[in-house]
Amino acid sequence: MTDVPIQQSPSGSRGRYDWTRAELAELLGDQPRYRVDQVWAGLYTQGGEPAEWTSLSKTLRARLSDELSPSLSLAAESVSDDGDTVKWLWTLHDGRQIETVLMIYPDRATVCVSSQAGCAMACGFCATGQAGFDRHLSTGEIVEQVVRARARAAADGRRLSNVVFMGMGEPFANYDRTWAAVERIHDDLGLGARHLTLSTVGVVPGIRRLAEASLPVNLAVSLHLANDTERNELVPINRRYPLAELADACRDYVEATRRRLSFEWALIHDVNDTDRHARELADYARPLRAHVNLIPLNPTPGYRVRGSSPETVRLFARRLGELGVNATVRRTRGTDIDAACGQLRATHATAPTSGDPTSGGPTPVAVGRRTHG
Ligand code: SF4
Repeated sequence: MTDVPIQQSPSGSRGRYDWTRAELAELLGDQPRYRVDQVWAGLYTQGGEPAEWTSLSKTLRARLSDELSPSLSLAAESVSDDGDTVKWLWTLHDGRQIETVLMIYPDRATVCVSSQAGCAMACGFCATGQAGFDRHLSTGEIVEQVVRARARAAADGRRLSNVVFMGMGEPFANYDRTWAAVERIHDDLGLGARHLTLSTVGVVPGIRRLAEASLPVNLAVSLHLANDTERNELVPINRRYPLAELADACRDYVEATRRRLSFEWALIHDVNDTDRHARELADYARPLRAHVNLIPLNPTPGYRVRGSSPETVRLFARRLGELGVNATVRRTRGTDIDAACGQLRATHATAPTSGDPTSGGPTPVAVGRRTHG
């Protein structure tokens, strides 16, 4: 188990998953030592509320309910028509809002978590980027998203198997807190490193740090364009870390870790789905032996473009294959809910709290999608 230094919310609040074991031991200094293990098991193995941790006395449960407050309060929940995708909008203690998406597949259950409230990267096709940056999330605010999703998956008889950091925010812009969350998820929630994926839009220093990291998590780079002129416009961080520099970092990462790299490519009609774009992508991805995930783009309010047609997606994937690049077309999740980063938040900016998804009472809301990361 880890006992990483606390990475609490920059606003100073501490949620229940922001506490380290050492800090909990201090908090429970008047209790027998084994109580720390019991509370830790309550948080990470059992989940739910302290009132449900019946291995503890009623008095202690009541005290913990006061002292270990949750970070996430449900503002809205949307569930896809087939029930396989659940998206939550959470309100944080300071009123900021973030989103989490749970996706159930036949062979796995994946949660997509946010690492920041808002995002400063300003990608042109992204609702979160258009709304701007609010603040970094704390380690506990990230971990609690996973705990909530795990509980929801378990309620459906499924085991949460994967975590992807592709929700709101750029994980490498909040590296320390994000990495502390990765360690918690791995060490204390028991998800293997190969089941954890960090996604970046191209923050080179973060890629270089990840190459040195202790856990062999996966890296996904949101590329979307493979020429600097166009990428500078769609993904402004490219002006700071141009493609050649990004490729160098990716190459060093692959050499240092021997892990497979993946590129995310949101297919946008007439923006990055032509034959020329496929050739540019292939030239960029092939030397890095990167796998490409193609994601048909859903509409984002304020960005008047549309995703590529299913036929164009199919042809683009086939062209990449001809050019020697492995590509997978990802099924777009949440097209009947607001499953874009920032879209649920935009739709429900003033939505009232409507119950906790881990204890039932879903509140179906409207529609959308995301692409970060
Ligand atoms: S796509 Fe990702 S990195 Fe870009 S603005 Fe949206 S959340 Fe931020």
